[in-house]
Amino acid sequence: MMSCNYFNGPLRALRVAIGVLAFAVMQASYAAADAPHAVVIKAARLFDAVSGKLREPGAIVVVGDKIQSVGGDVPVPAGAEVIDLGDATLLPGFIDAHVHLSDESSENWYRDWYQDKMRFPAEKALYGAHYAKITLEAGITTVRDVGSTDHISLGLRNAINAGVIPGPRMLIANYAIGATGGHADQDPVPPQLIASAGPMQGVCNGAEECRAAVRYQLKYGADVIKFMPSGGVLSLADSVDEPELTQEEMNAIVAEAHMWKRKVAAHCHGDKAARMAILAGVDSIEHGTFIKEDTLLEMKKHHVFLVPTLSAQEAVGAKLDSLPPAIVPKARAAAAQARIMFGNAVRIGVPIAMGTDAAVDPHGRNAHEFTLMNRYGMPAADALLAGTAGGAELLGLSDSIGTLQPGKQADIVAVRGNPLADIQAVEHSLFVMKGGVVYKRP
Ligand SMILES: [Zn+2]
Repeated sequence: MMSCNYFNGPLRALRVAIGVLAFAVMQASYAAADAPHAVVIKAARLFDAVSGKLREPGAIVVVGDKIQSVGGDVPVPAGAEVIDLGDATLLPGFIDAHVHLSDESSENWYRDWYQDKMRFPAEKALYGAHYAKITLEAGITTVRDVGSTDHISLGLRNAINAGVIPGPRMLIANYAIGATGGHADQDPVPPQLIASAGPMQGVCNGAEECRAAVRYQLKYGADVIKFMPSGGVLSLADSVDEPELTQEEMNAIVAEAHMWKRKVAAHCHGDKAARMAILAGVDSIEHGTFIKEDTLLEMKKHHVFLVPTLSAQEAVGAKLDSLPPAIVPKARAAAAQARIMFGNAVRIGVPIAMGTDAAVDPHGRNAHEFTLMNRYGMPAADALLAGTAGGAELLGLSDSIGTLQPGKQADIVAVRGNPLADIQAVEHSLFVMKGGVVYKRP
């Protein structure tokens, strides 16, 4: 049905506008034409992310932007459009808890660095709009964007919410927060060339400045706070695993965000930094590369999510030759250790949400993370749960997304075949609906 397609939105708006005019002139009612559109989506299988099992066959009734019913053999409402996808599996729209839609790395670190410095914010935003579109078409209907500059992620989120551009539902962090010289700071370019950053750009020293850095991100519209307890792989000035903030600074960041009822994501490769972040009360640890088993047990005990970003480790590990010398040993050690840590986390039962760090690897390949999670020790059904119900829980959106249940937002993805038999099926989406609007169909 054409009216259900995003790309016909402006046409539909024009039709409604003409209808309003006609009503005024002719006193004619057009209310019936605007009744919520009903769609029935059918496929051979359905994974609702509630039971963790497949139903055969699967069908979902969508009315307006919500799921009305889910089952094997649902009654088809009068006038409903029926989309039969055949040998496919219906799933909740995927949730990627760690992306950066304003950026993308290539195989050439030096060229990326140059382009990042030379692109204006408006130019970066246009690239971001493209990345948002291909992310959605890959079946990712919700993302958490955990760090961007110049408020680009904020602009993308608002434009997507307004229906101006297609893209996933976005929760955004604005600038990530961290210490001078740390992973949230700029590269150590001589200060006469690039001015030093401060709390507005997320760079802070001392508990009070870190509190201010959080407040600036919230002032301009952050949904979530991201901070950097440890160093990063791709940054020049820091070690990858040592803490970069004091306990007092971490406590201030987390307490301030929680006071505003926002969750806190901690970028953390090192074990000691992870322990400090857990003590401060973080909601998730991103990457977690060098975290030891004792610390994973602490995460399980305090229900701190791990967002493993195996895709990023794979991408960096594949281009070691092109990296600056200061980064190569960090990248090599991280790529090897991430898989071991992830296997330990699965065995211990740490809550896990799917997250890729897309930008480090290309956008639109997000669902490859499911394959990697499965390859390194997670059963396929659990991997799917980590990218649906688990992600929704971490984002605080379990009431509206993450499962296929009546009353939830109609965020639905279909993939060919059976992803429990072959997880790679999820890497090729066949059909994508977000909030009842179809963005991709066969
Ligand atoms: Zn990241």
